[in-house]
Amino acid sequence: KKIEPKKSEYVIASDTAFAPFEFQNTDNKYEGIDVDLLNKAAEMQGFNLKWNHIGFAGAVQAVQGNQADAMIAGMTITDERKESFDFSDPYFESGIQLAIKKGNDEIKSYADLKGKKVGAKIGTESADFLQKNKDKYGYTIKQYDTADGLYDSVRGGQIDAIMDDYPVIGYAISQGQELATPIKRESGGSYGFAVKKGQSPELLEMFNEALKEMKRTGEYDKILDKYIADGN
Ligand code: GLN
Repeated sequence: KKIEPKKSEYVIASDTAFAPFEFQNTDNKYEGIDVDLLNKAAEMQGFNLKWNHIGFAGAVQAVQGNQADAMIAGMTITDERKESFDFSDPYFESGIQLAIKKGNDEIKSYADLKGKKVGAKIGTESADFLQKNKDKYGYTIKQYDTADGLYDSVRGGQIDAIMDDYPVIGYAISQGQELATPIKRESGGSYGFAVKKGQSPELLEMFNEALKEMKRTGEYDKILDKYIADGN
């Protein structure tokens, strides 16, 4: 089914570095699962996009402040976010996980985080999780604007552990980052494409239609396989 766009161009906010969902390739061009899925959806449904990679918390603010029509940024669909966003159908099953520097054998469970520094990116599910469990496990939290700062800090030993989405940690490890994941990941949480609550319903509808079609034709699997190796 073809849906009529209501705007000549939709501004899309996204994260700056959240590989394999969005990241700059060696030509400084953005690619990744989110980028490819939405570009393909736009092509299939015939609407125009303008990408704005401004970071996760920045994207949330841009959509809420009407500087962007929508965001796609590996954004977990949560009840709390549903108060201010409308989400597409879920397009990826995720979950969060703790990562430490490879070779650090001090941290084998959350209890081992007592007195340690743990990092996460501002405004994310991981940052929320750390906040909620802080008193229980007795760590301190360090928040970062970007993944680069976060990952550099744990590898450099400025912090003891980080919390992030498991496919992103998995991708970093597959790219040779010296990290380990000693604790089983937290279950659940699907990613959705999001608009400000009550706005641009046609944009969500176009995405949902294209997603269904991409799943039917195998295009969806093709995009995932391009970025996620088996067993990652
Ligand atoms: N999935 C996480 C969230 O929604 C992290 C997203 C991100 O860092 N881009 O909070």
